[in-house]
Amino acid sequence: MPSQFPWRLAEITLKDVRAANIQAAVLTFGATEPHNLHLPYATDNFQVEAIADKACGLAWEKGARVALLPNIPFGAEQNLFAFPLAIHVEQDILNQIVESVAKSLERCGIQKLVIINGHGGNDFKACLRTMLARTRVFCSLVNWYQSSADVAKTLFENPGDHADEMETSLIQALRPELVDMPSADAGTMRVSRFDAARKGWAWYPRPFDRLTTNSGAGDPRKASADKGRTYLDVVESRIADYLVELSAAEIDDTFPFRA
Ligand SMILES: [Zn+2]
Repeated sequence: MPSQFPWRLAEITLKDVRAANIQAAVLTFGATEPHNLHLPYATDNFQVEAIADKACGLAWEKGARVALLPNIPFGAEQNLFAFPLAIHVEQDILNQIVESVAKSLERCGIQKLVIINGHGGNDFKACLRTMLARTRVFCSLVNWYQSSADVAKTLFENPGDHADEMETSLIQALRPELVDMPSADAGTMRVSRFDAARKGWAWYPRPFDRLTTNSGAGDPRKASADKGRTYLDVVESRIADYLVELSAAEIDDTFPFRA
């Protein structure tokens, strides 16, 4: 029986792949790490997997032939080292995965790869610059949480960046049975002692055991499943639109620019 989800590579056959004429592949990266006291360790994976799956499905409906690859569930976790079972995989290894996947696509004639990243500690920009010299596959990056920051500002009252109101709302929408709201702390963050860092022009990685109380950064207590669903709809449809446009684009002399 043919799959109801023909974009999910994990669920289709060689016969399906041969018939589909795949134009682009999507590879997601998440993380395995604590999220305050109320969200599960796989929070980033649940989010990025759901977003990429829906975006690929919407894009497929509009004619884009995309293949969603299985998620990579580990990310760079130097910031959360001090917490138990934050599973750290070096960025270099993540970059090697991107390169190996891109070269696998190249061998079978697929010319486009989209990385959808769901973990703020991962940083693929340098990797994609390196890829320009190592493969002809066009590699692009979507940090999904940057796709709809304008909407997040209007939807969520309390900004944050880890296990905050936004992330909590998403898991309430996606996996409500895994949210332990009464245990959440307020997600308070220490303020930098350096003026340049407070103004945003000096940067350093933040050890979350010193920045936060229980790894949560941002107050999650105004979260709701409704907000989460609304936000997911926007993120998913924006990413789907990009996948449709990218899949249809011809790789010619001026790609990825207009002639
Ligand atoms: Zn997260």
